[in-house]
Amino acid sequence: MSQAKATILVTGGAGYIGSHAVLALKQAGYDVIVLDNLVYGHRELVEDVLKVELIVGDISDRSTLDQLFSTREIAAVMHFAAYIAVGESVTEPAKYYRNNVNGTLTLLEAMVAAKVKQLVFSSTCAIYGMPKQVPMTEEHPQDPMSPYAASKWMVERMLADFDQAYDLKSVAFRYFNASGANPEGLLGEDHNPETHLIPLVLLTALGKRESISIFGSDYPTPDGTCIRDYIHVGDLADAHVLGLEYLLKGGTREVFNLGNGNGFSVKQVIETARAVTGREIKAVERERRAGDPPILIGSSDKARQTLGWYPQYPDLSDILSHAWQWHQKRHG
Ligand code: UDP
Repeated sequence: MSQAKATILVTGGAGYIGSHAVLALKQAGYDVIVLDNLVYGHRELVEDVLKVELIVGDISDRSTLDQLFSTREIAAVMHFAAYIAVGESVTEPAKYYRNNVNGTLTLLEAMVAAKVKQLVFSSTCAIYGMPKQVPMTEEHPQDPMSPYAASKWMVERMLADFDQAYDLKSVAFRYFNASGANPEGLLGEDHNPETHLIPLVLLTALGKRESISIFGSDYPTPDGTCIRDYIHVGDLADAHVLGLEYLLKGGTREVFNLGNGNGFSVKQVIETARAVTGREIKAVERERRAGDPPILIGSSDKARQTLGWYPQYPDLSDILSHAWQWHQKRHG
């Protein structure tokens, strides 16, 4: 067996994207410690599936962080812990600013105090707001339209300032639509409540929901439904390991989009899900959902060029069949 590489602290490692990143880190030979408050995370994923050390605690708890950084040799941090529900962030903004911004500030201060100066951050394409052109590059103007998006935007801003003042180096990844599941069926998406299209379509296929709502069919797109850039969560996880290694080799602060560069409409997602699952999946056309841009597609050229990252699973049918395998196991 090869000797373990550095130890990486993963906040939010019991969540959807975080757990996939922990698996990718383990497979790349790193030691991992997960810090998760388990408000939305899943203990069993960390303890029984990933089999890595879990510290149940909050990023806002400075004493837990100080204890961790002073007793363990932590080389870098991957920071996923955040609340993610856009709609809830509009009605409960304080929750989002307190956890996503204030909590991250506490984490960053603890890192600086402990001289742990490399961070990979989970950001979002939602910081761009309504697209002015697609595919969107990292230079696209930023106009976050929800407290959730604003909270991620504020952290990116803090990261720029912490780089200047304290030499804290970071890579922020702006995800497009994270989707799919581990191809071996070990991990997957399990949000409660669930609001995302792909898991809701698959829960409908499983008979857990009566129908899937199509939010708007009069958009200026070929079939009238919104187009999104669905990126496989395993590809996101691989990018995080590349981003970490870029920093460990002395890389400067960077931001990267992560998308697969292909857009798929809501109707295409439902059609592909019917083909993958062999189930009928009743769909009902409804009103538009507030704040949805008609088309969101990202350019990930920068991540390809700088990190050498290439999505392995750009096909929608792969994304859906991996997610289907997980949902059948989880809810079947
Ligand atoms: N959507 C839908 N029905 C649903 C959930 C989502 O038609 O039950 C649409 C939504 O309006 C958007 C797309 O599917 O155009 C992707 O939405 P999701 O919430 O998965 O991700 P978002 O793009 O909002 O991050």
